[in-house]
Amino acid sequence: MVNGARTIGFVGLGHMGGPMAANLAKAGHRVLGYDLLPELLDAAAGSGVEAAGSAAEAAAAADVVITMLPAGRHVLSLYGQEGVLAAARPGTLFIDCSTIDVTDARGAHQAAIAAGMRALDAPVSGGVVGAEAGSLTFMAGGGHAEFAEAEPLLSVMGDKAVHCGGPGAGQAAKICNNMILGISMIAVSEAFVLGESLGLSHQALYDVASTASGQCWALSVNCPVPGPVPDSPANRAYRPGFAAPLMAKDLGLAANALHAGGIDAPLGLKAAELYAAYAQGAGAERDFSGIVDTIRQRPTTRDQGNGADPT
Ligand code: NAD
Repeated sequence: MVNGARTIGFVGLGHMGGPMAANLAKAGHRVLGYDLLPELLDAAAGSGVEAAGSAAEAAAAADVVITMLPAGRHVLSLYGQEGVLAAARPGTLFIDCSTIDVTDARGAHQAAIAAGMRALDAPVSGGVVGAEAGSLTFMAGGGHAEFAEAEPLLSVMGDKAVHCGGPGAGQAAKICNNMILGISMIAVSEAFVLGESLGLSHQALYDVASTASGQCWALSVNCPVPGPVPDSPANRAYRPGFAAPLMAKDLGLAANALHAGGIDAPLGLKAAELYAAYAQGAGAERDFSGIVDTIRQRPTTRDQGNGADPT
């Protein structure tokens, strides 16, 4: 083991957790991994992760427990019913890297602290490519001491970690950022479809907007039409990238938080609605920028009868 090596319980070895755990093991930490799917445990073993018999067993031996699970209910169930908090040594640091509801994240913090543990929420951006390359961005919520202790581990799995505030602040930053992204991708897509109808080429609109006030990541990096940005998913039949169902999930979490806060944010709520429909249909396996096709295919207001000649 290298200097400063920790024993880490890592629960959830899926698309993201698998490579994150592997990078920690590669950096010389002892990683005790657990997932409900045995084949993922076998795969992790090939990257130096030791297979634990259960999440509680991994937690019992760990200094730090990292979770990378689908949703808040999985994290809360693991901490509670599945006995992970009860099994851990007092003072163990629990870092949840899953993307979950802000309310659930705060509940997870409370449960950990009530059990004599310490907690940090630290969701990520960067996707599977970032998880494999160790270049994720972490958005963390919790105390300064907890963030300072987590930082050396986060820096193995990522390039950047921002301490955003107290419990739940990491999740809050993640959903606010992705609400901007979801809305701006729809805005950019609608502008391209409008441009098409006005006879404007994709390249001309790109050349103007990408150097003018319309500039944003959705346009200049993840451009939703093929051509102007050769690396964008539009040039590979919308293979993700950032899959539409993940955008739909994050916007759903943002919508929950908007409702809980009584905030009137029609664009955020509309983006959540449009991405939920896209992810359940044509976008199920596509990058989120593919939503441009659904905008192009929507019936026009003329088709719907608005302004149509009644004769
Ligand atoms: P995934 O479904 O591939 O992995 C989740 C894993 O958790 C699965 O292997 C599942 O078997 C395991 N699991 C569920 N309940 C468990 C339990 N009680 N005990 C042990 N294991 C359990 O999902 P993913 O793509 O790795 O995403 C994980 C989290 O990261 C999600 O919250 C997601 O929103 C977030 N995220 C994903 C991406 C991405 O590009 N995939 C990007 C950013 C954030």
